[in-house]
Amino acid sequence: MPSDLHMHTSFSDGTLSPEELVAAAKEVGLSYMAITDHDTIDGVSQLYEDGHYPSRGLRLIPGIEFSAHHPVHDIHILGYNIDIYHRELADKLTEITESRWTRFTAMVAKLQGLGYQLKESEVLAVADTSRAISRSHIARVLVKKNFFPSVREAFAVLLEKGKPAYVPHYRPEAAEIVSLIKKAGGLPVLAHPKLVQNEDLVEYLCRDIGIEGLEVFYPQHDEADVVRYLHLAEKYHLQITGGSDFHGFTSRHPTELGVFTIDDSYAEKLYRPL
Ligand SMILES: [Zn+2]
Ligand SMILES: [Zn+2]
Repeated sequence: MPSDLHMHTSFSDGTLSPEELVAAAKEVGLSYMAITDHDTIDGVSQLYEDGHYPSRGLRLIPGIEFSAHHPVHDIHILGYNIDIYHRELADKLTEITESRWTRFTAMVAKLQGLGYQLKESEVLAVADTSRAISRSHIARVLVKKNFFPSVREAFAVLLEKGKPAYVPHYRPEAAEIVSLIKKAGGLPVLAHPKLVQNEDLVEYLCRDIGIEGLEVFYPQHDEADVVRYLHLAEKYHLQITGGSDFHGFTSRHPTELGVFTIDDSYAEKLYRPL
């Protein structure tokens, strides 16, 4: 049976609600799933609190995805099995979420200045239940209004680091994120190492900041990448993880759930029964 340890819900920039995601995961026959929203655990807590916790063969691993500060490269760190009620974690997430709000307002203003007619309210309508307002929400409005044919192109032209509408938001240092995940009882995993786009930096992150797992399996990793990252995981005694980075809309991620999965044996090692 297949598993997927990297998925987003409407509580960050995915399109499906946690309940819809659980239903979709059951539909395609996943045995383990992890929800890893950007900078929030609201989707996971909603499932627990509303009693919509998956059952009948599908097992949920609580997760989160942080973005770390770096002047050039994109470093994302996943945290599995974190205590979702951990005080220090909750405070840090509030701080990040608030900074995302300020940044979203600044980006909309920049876009208006560049001649793209869009309103904050239009982005908020797309963001819906998400408190972690992201560039994907802005991109989806730009596509909806026919400025761009796809989210990917909106990013490439305007929203990526260094592009005209880009505004950074507060990101903690990678080492700080790792230590916070550990304090909250979780397993810190370096996400999609290939997207870091610097193998020396990847090796440094695996070796020097307390990372305990590596996302070896990922849609953008080809066979040679997988071999290289398996080797790296072995070298630094890291747990091996993987996932689709499913968001539910067309981007660099697969649009369908269940298209990219990993072997259960990797997911099983992360699963903690309630
Ligand atoms: Zn990521
Ligand atoms: Zn992700």
